[in-house]
Amino acid sequence: MSKILALPGDGIGSEILDEAIKLIAAVESLFGFQCEIEHGLIGGIAVDQVGKPLPDETVKLAKQADAVLLGAVGGPKWDTLERHLRPERGLLGIRAELGLFANLRPAILFPQLAAASTLKEEIVAGLDILIIRELTGGIYFGEPRGQKEVGGNRVGFNTMVYQEEEIARIVQAGFDAARKRGSRLCSVDKANVLDVSGLWREVATEVGQENPDVELSHMYVDNAAMQLVRAPKQFDVMVTGNLFGDILSDCAAMLTGSIGMLPSASLNESGAGMYEPVHGSAPDIAGTGKANPLATFLSAAMMFRYSLGRADIADAIDTAVGAVLDKGLRTGDIFSAGCREVGTVEMSDAVINAMRQAG
Ligand code: NAD
Repeated sequence: MSKILALPGDGIGSEILDEAIKLIAAVESLFGFQCEIEHGLIGGIAVDQVGKPLPDETVKLAKQADAVLLGAVGGPKWDTLERHLRPERGLLGIRAELGLFANLRPAILFPQLAAASTLKEEIVAGLDILIIRELTGGIYFGEPRGQKEVGGNRVGFNTMVYQEEEIARIVQAGFDAARKRGSRLCSVDKANVLDVSGLWREVATEVGQENPDVELSHMYVDNAAMQLVRAPKQFDVMVTGNLFGDILSDCAAMLTGSIGMLPSASLNESGAGMYEPVHGSAPDIAGTGKANPLATFLSAAMMFRYSLGRADIADAIDTAVGAVLDKGLRTGDIFSAGCREVGTVEMSDAVINAMRQAG
């Protein structure tokens, strides 16, 4: 029996996670899959209820689970709190506690949504790339960090640091993923300026020598940002550090037209993982029933594929999402003329029905 921890979080988080739990219940009856779902607190709601964004109980439950399914955290209500109490700290904390070092973000453009991209259709139609971001190291965690006063001047500083084992581990994850796809891996760094990137490139090249079946290339991050917008289909898998990956994966996200369609997976060395939509808590539409649940459904599909060993269920969810888009159903964020606008619950029910009909 698989154990899943559901962490709704804030804003639209609970709305989309409620639907994901309905989806998992349907999967249980359709595919003879059995799971136990626990619920936990994270983010602003955890600050309100227990005084910190990542309660110990949540960490305990997450460590016992095979997979964590997360909604989103954050919102204006908590923006003025001290940094260590901010909802986002809960996310950084759980990634570190679970050792989630690899963040997998596919940017796939469903053909039905090609017109929703801000780029020309021929640039993005059929796009299918995967960005792998290192998640537990680099400048977001490096010490020393802080602010101080030097000679009457305020100074802010962070440290971008990577050990060779950390680089080798994430680059190897890149090779493993590329091998299952188009066998091309592009390692992204800033080796022309940063010493830490110099080491990144050296180690990536060494790991490449152990993976000769996958073609390795290197690219500076500024060029990678340009190429992602100019000709994104040239990439298969990209692997990069925490800061560069944060920015590039959001850039890739926009190629697909809607942040409401993008799933992500974060994996640790034992194969357990946390699965979450790329978008945030969308405070502007929270409570209106308009949130697109599909990024969360596609995240659940990744959970079945990567942590629960059920690629068949993942395929069924992906296919059902495609079938519903084919029928012309759209939430507001992906709406285009000639389609029918639906809310969170109607979109979710349509996907579940499509899965039932296919099964
Ligand atoms: P956001 O992703 O929440 O929203 C950006 C825009 O996209 C908004 O207009 C929103 O309505 C829309 N949107 C997002 N998800 C949608 C969905 N599923 N369906 C339809 N429309 C959707 O980003 P933001 O506004 O910059 O941040 C809001 C809060 O979320 C902040 O507190 C931020 O810190 C937090 N945040 C959390 C995460 C996370 O939990 N992983 C990620 C990013 C931002």
